[in-house]
Amino acid sequence: MTWGGGFGGGPGGAPGGFGRPSAPGLPFAGIPSELQSGVDRLLKSEPEQVPSELHFAQRADEGELRRMSLWTLLAKYPGMLALSALLIVVISVVGQLGPKLTEIAINDGMSPGHLHFSVVVWMAAAYLVCVAVTAVAQSFQVMVSGRIAAWVMNDLRVKVFAHLQRLSLSFFTEEKAGVIMSRMTSDIENLQQLLQDGLSQLAIQGLTMIVISVILFTTNVTLAAITLLLIVPALVGASIWFTRASEQGYERVRDGIANVLADLSESLHGVRIVTAHNRQRHNVVHHRNVVHDYRTANNYTGRVNAIYGPGTQALGILGQAVLLGIGGEMVLHHTLSLGALTAFFLYLNRFFQPIQLLVQQYNTYQQGQSSIIKLRGLVDTDPEVMESPNAEVLPEINGAIGFEHLSFGYRPGRLVLEDINLVIAPGETIAFVGPTGAGKSTLAKLVTRFYDPTDGRVTIDGHDLRDVTMFSLRSQLGVVPQEPFLFAGTIGDNIAFARPESTDDEIWEAVERVGLTDVIERMPHGLKTPVHERGQTLSSGERQLIALARAFLAHPRVLVLDEATSNLDLQSETKIEAALDVLLENRTAILIAHRLSTAMRADRIAVVDHGRIIEVGHHDDLVQKGGRYADMYATWIQQLAQSDSHPD
Ligand code: ATP
Repeated sequence: MTWGGGFGGGPGGAPGGFGRPSAPGLPFAGIPSELQSGVDRLLKSEPEQVPSELHFAQRADEGELRRMSLWTLLAKYPGMLALSALLIVVISVVGQLGPKLTEIAINDGMSPGHLHFSVVVWMAAAYLVCVAVTAVAQSFQVMVSGRIAAWVMNDLRVKVFAHLQRLSLSFFTEEKAGVIMSRMTSDIENLQQLLQDGLSQLAIQGLTMIVISVILFTTNVTLAAITLLLIVPALVGASIWFTRASEQGYERVRDGIANVLADLSESLHGVRIVTAHNRQRHNVVHHRNVVHDYRTANNYTGRVNAIYGPGTQALGILGQAVLLGIGGEMVLHHTLSLGALTAFFLYLNRFFQPIQLLVQQYNTYQQGQSSIIKLRGLVDTDPEVMESPNAEVLPEINGAIGFEHLSFGYRPGRLVLEDINLVIAPGETIAFVGPTGAGKSTLAKLVTRFYDPTDGRVTIDGHDLRDVTMFSLRSQLGVVPQEPFLFAGTIGDNIAFARPESTDDEIWEAVERVGLTDVIERMPHGLKTPVHERGQTLSSGERQLIALARAFLAHPRVLVLDEATSNLDLQSETKIEAALDVLLENRTAILIAHRLSTAMRADRIAVVDHGRIIEVGHHDDLVQKGGRYADMYATWIQQLAQSDSHPD
């Protein structure tokens, strides 16, 4: 059987692996028989899941991401878009025929000398049909735009997530996780709102205004010109002020929510340290300040809306007053019919309604537009480490690693590694030792191509890492970080992380080889025991053993191992050292050793200091040489002797 069912993949459950959400609590025990018929009924009524197409390549499809705009996102669904446009025209035109029908009913059915009840009935019936047609069109329109929004959101979420998977490590170290989360949540939600009803409302209201203007002018040019000339300039002025003010306001609101989320996510991740250092009060004060800024930004946009909304309403009423005066006078002088004046009044009311709605929708549009700009900023971020278009597949390697005149700096002008030259033979284990901040982990990050050298090159079997595809490189490398990361899923899923297709037997072999058997057997559901909160319920030794088993199962030719700095009890340390021996067998290994006891097990030791390798050699040779390593070793022996004489 292929492993991958994981937590929740009980009887009848399809193998899921890491893609499946796992619930905390007891493992899935199947559906009780009395509920089975209900579940079957429910499943029958479930719509068919259309599997979405997904291609993932290290190099993004250039044009697709670069061109991201509202239009390109929508253009993928031309059929639905055309239907939506047709419905919008129907709503805007048919929905505005009512006052015109009223005018006919008054002039030709109710005026002295034109008393025709049949005309009134016909007009009333036509009015009814218009209302019905508009209502049906509106209902379909909401449905269609909802569907478009759902699909576009689906595409966008997958696209942005896939892009995040491509980005280099540097992006995630520099960008706050909370800010990325807010792009994926509030920015995407803003867009959803815009697509769901914002855009169609903008189109409907805009078109309605045009239709009404045309009708007003065809009814009476003078009256239409006077009304519109009086109101439109004031309206345009107010709108220009409003767009500027609200743009500013919404920028502040968005930054505010991003900061609130960033602060929240940081304090959730650091909850243990916060508690341990009694920083709760300080954190609450800081969060209150961040929330305060967000509230102030919201208040500002609220004030801007409060001025603009009622202001435009007042303009509308002013227009009606003017119309009553001028239009009334025209009726008295028989230059305008009573029906036309009534229609004018009704239309003028309707003319202001779309303006009000447009104002509301403008906010949604603003938010959606700026969300798309921010999302575009995200997808336009190029991975710092790019795969070359001519990258070749790295053939099966022996594992010879070379650093040739390698220099590297995270920031321009500040080198962290300088002119490193080192050859590591296939199958050799080399330990990097040295003071903290010397550049040991950075060297390791260059081997896994998390970063590219500033100068010089890193090679594997003579291939410059920049000339080979990342997939072929990383599928032959194994990495065990200082703090192993466990994902949601089961212990088994976590061990099989690099090779989800592994069989149960293979997983058990890895478990046995690294000496994890009794730990797994003690767990309530063995390999199927769910992992809670990134493995916080496991001891750090257990987490490290799981990470070692994961690396073992991946069968890498080259292994990069950042030794955990946490102090383990003697028994766990012995266990991990034994597991390491198994893991390092027959493979090239780079060991970032924080303990000299670990370094001594390596074939060679490289002492890194201030970004340079100052000594390389076997433990005995280096001790004999009497250099930096010999000093470190002497200090260590001294410390050991001291702790032996003071065992407490
Ligand atoms: P340790 O033993 O404490 O793990 P190290 O020898 O592994 O230390 P590195 O992590 O390689 O040291 O760091 C080398 C230098 O690079 C340090 O001065 C560190 O501050 C800096 N550095 C590390 N990561 C980054 C980063 N993402 N951006 C900028 N500077 C960094």
